[in-house]
Amino acid sequence: MTDARWASIDAFAEQNRDNILRDITRLVAVPSVEGTPEPGKPYGPGPAAALDCALAIAAELGLDTHNDAGRIGWAQTGPIADGQKYLATITHVDVVPAGNGWSADPFTVRLQDGWLLGRGVADDKGPGILCLYALKYLKESGAPLPYPVRALLGANEETGMADADYYAQNHPQPVFCFTPDAEFPVCNGEKGGFGGELVSPVLEGGVIVKFEGGVAHNAVPDRAVCVVRAPQSSLRPADGVTLEPDPEDPRNTVLCGWGKSGHAAMPAGTVNAIARIVDCLLQSGVCTPAEDAYLRVLATLHADTAGKALGIAADDGVFDPLTIIGGTVTMQGGRIRQSFDCRYPTNTDAEALTAAMRAVCGTAAALENVESRVPFYIGTDHPAIQTLIRTYNEVTGEHKAPFVMGGGTYARHFPLAVSFGPEHTDLPLPAFAGPMHGANEGANFEKLIEALKIYILALLRLEELAF
Ligand SMILES: [Zn+2]
Repeated sequence: MTDARWASIDAFAEQNRDNILRDITRLVAVPSVEGTPEPGKPYGPGPAAALDCALAIAAELGLDTHNDAGRIGWAQTGPIADGQKYLATITHVDVVPAGNGWSADPFTVRLQDGWLLGRGVADDKGPGILCLYALKYLKESGAPLPYPVRALLGANEETGMADADYYAQNHPQPVFCFTPDAEFPVCNGEKGGFGGELVSPVLEGGVIVKFEGGVAHNAVPDRAVCVVRAPQSSLRPADGVTLEPDPEDPRNTVLCGWGKSGHAAMPAGTVNAIARIVDCLLQSGVCTPAEDAYLRVLATLHADTAGKALGIAADDGVFDPLTIIGGTVTMQGGRIRQSFDCRYPTNTDAEALTAAMRAVCGTAAALENVESRVPFYIGTDHPAIQTLIRTYNEVTGEHKAPFVMGGGTYARHFPLAVSFGPEHTDLPLPAFAGPMHGANEGANFEKLIEALKIYILALLRLEELAF
């Protein structure tokens, strides 16, 4: 490391280890899953309390703070006048529910063999505290800051990112922003997203009595259950489907589908449990013509995760090819609803995807509740991207290149933004630690301290660019 500022950055991070651990522990101790809105607490009391906590920590560090209606807050190195160009980081103080399987209280940070354990240590309270300390360094070092720096703290990342939309509508945007809410090194592009539901007509006089499967629209389900009014002998055996008598009605048969789950953004190697039931029903020929017509639409959706059968496959040579998966299936009032989640590259769009899906549906199904987001991509030759990747490689001694992904972060909500760490996907998790959103969520403390050094140096170098 040849940068003259390194010694002071290194010393600052090392001297603040204990304080950083203390402040991450304070913030994790405030459970902040989205809840019922209250006045001044638009995402419920938890996220609002966590935002208050983070801003109190920022004020203790000597930073200017602001809380905008409990939706989003920030700390900054100093006043930002109207029209002043500024840099930003964005992290979030809300978390996903603790879930099951923890070996200790999820909201009490534990340190085990160099790993912090607790809900939010990695996603995204740990990184949030790092950004506050990076600003403390910038302010105290007396380094020239032609662009003041604002550390944004969102309160609604996990459940819709309404915080970032609110910020965009009410405040001038930063000239450049990075979000420490993903993996190192630098993610400079995210696929587009396209989701919705394939809904059957009311299937009157049908054979299907019940159809349930999946836990989320963005995950391939590993189990699904369907009840049909048909004897077991009329159903053909099929891979991954077990048949049982219905304990509630002897005229019915229960089909259980078994698959292999996985995330919608990376469906390779998954097996969809709903698809196995659909195939079994179609091969058995027990359903009514209207049911069969709808099931054929689902079979087309589930045929492959590249969208080939649907006629929407796309590959632009920048991103990985398009993916699509069926997430959940439900049945209510005689209507079956199958949700889907598609991640698409730059050479197609929501309009083309909608038209293709409608063509497959015909009159057998309706396309409903469609939502989409456009892909974003910033060229790797952009000076800001170059600055981040160079800084990451210099500090770590690695030789990595920016990457693109199918997932979605805050980055797409800003005119010029990327995600920048601090996770290391190549660092194996010890047996006692879990991933983001999982039980025993873990973050390697040394790597967090290293990330702080990377963020400080990167921000100092971004100050030298012409935005
Ligand atoms: Zn996050």
